[in-house]
Amino acid sequence: MKLVIVGGGIIGTATAARLGQTDHDVTLVERDEIGTDTTAASAGMLMRAAVEPTPFDVALRNRAWAAYQRLFEESGLEAERIGTLYLAETAAYAERLERSAATLADHGVDATFRTPDELAEYGIDTSNFDDSRDPGAFAGGLHTTADRRCNPAAVASWFADCAREAGVDVRTGVEVTAIRTRNGTVRAVETDTGRIDADTVINAAGPWAPQLNNTVGVSLPLAHTVGPMAELECPAAASQRADSTQSNTNSNSNATPFTILESKRYVRPGAANGSKAPRRAVVGEFNTGYAEGSVLELHKRDLSDSFRNGAPGTASLVSGFDDATITEEWVGYRTVTPDGRPIVGETDVSGFVVACGLTGLGITLAPAVADLVADAVAGGLDSEHREQVGPDRF
Ligand SMILES: Cc1cc2nc3c(=O)[nH]c(=O)nc-3n(C[C@H](O)[C@H](O)[C@H](O)COP(=O)(O)OP(=O)(O)OC[C@H]3O[C@@H](n4cnc5c(N)ncnc54)[C@H](O)[C@@H]3O)c2cc1C
Repeated sequence: MKLVIVGGGIIGTATAARLGQTDHDVTLVERDEIGTDTTAASAGMLMRAAVEPTPFDVALRNRAWAAYQRLFEESGLEAERIGTLYLAETAAYAERLERSAATLADHGVDATFRTPDELAEYGIDTSNFDDSRDPGAFAGGLHTTADRRCNPAAVASWFADCAREAGVDVRTGVEVTAIRTRNGTVRAVETDTGRIDADTVINAAGPWAPQLNNTVGVSLPLAHTVGPMAELECPAAASQRADSTQSNTNSNSNATPFTILESKRYVRPGAANGSKAPRRAVVGEFNTGYAEGSVLELHKRDLSDSFRNGAPGTASLVSGFDDATITEEWVGYRTVTPDGRPIVGETDVSGFVVACGLTGLGITLAPAVADLVADAVAGGLDSEHREQVGPDRF
């Protein structure tokens, strides 16, 4: 069978690496360079924990992590275990975090609920936080040591290399301009450098997935949310905690965790590209709500003044990050779905498979999504996955 994957972000490349292990004739088409769009814009966190996860969500993340574990062992790429701390600003959210800790522990993910008094242990410094809240105003936190920080563009390049080694034709600088169908079945893709015959096309075009769906008349509930990001540098040496981060795949109990506020802002220690850098941190906003999104024109955006002005204050939540200044800023687009899960599987157009709507979890879930695409190509998802992530679940 001839398969064409559209998109060379983390989803397209992970899928290419996975499908390279089959007997199919696989081509990946990326109009830019590998991993340079949403994938590079991300915070690069591999998130095993979640707030109020279902058993399905935990199992999907664990499945992805099992594949990543092999990858990090073989590739020499780094994935530092810095953990995540979710911070409750209200008592109601603290209760949800407490329940989540128990659910995660039941599913083998290390997670503990922390009382307000215990939060200082994680390098949280509310005295500098410019939200003028009292120290100790947080109502509690959920801490997991399981989550890791990686360089997502490097991971996508690694997947692309694995795909090439397995015989996949990886074409960059080539844009898919149309998909040809006959009698409701995919036949080929048109690109700006010519036609490629295809029995199956896999839409891994990230935020551009809705446009590609439209070309074959497939309508799926996908929307975009804007993800502002800023890397900041602290002039003084950051806290001992942040300084002590180590570049390896082992647990680092001293690392300042990825810290997510209930109000959605977050601080991720380390440089923009996911590498260890004690005096740097990235501030972002975790906007994944479908109701807040709409299908946007995906032009290059600047940060809003309110985000830019508030970023140093958010960074100062991490001990040692007061007086930080912005060194780099960018905006990425998340592609969100009504239930917060990706959309993966074959559509009503025979041979047209989607792997899109990764919300804020594409880096985390990529190898699991690649497995599901392989299942879809091999004959279809099983009933559980169809129900949870299939395109016909809406
Ligand atoms: C600010 C921000 C922070 C995030 N942080 C995290 C995080 O910490 N952890 C996590 O798990 N997830 C995170 N995410 C989500 C994650 O980044 C995405 O889910 C993931 O990168 C999506 O990957 P993708 O391959 O689907 O999309 P992309 O990386 O955007 O790749 C799609 C590719 O398709 C190409 N393309 C599109 N149309 C065509 C065409 N017609 N022809 C050829 N090529 C085409 C594009 O050039 C692009 O390279 C974050 C997202 C944002 C915006």
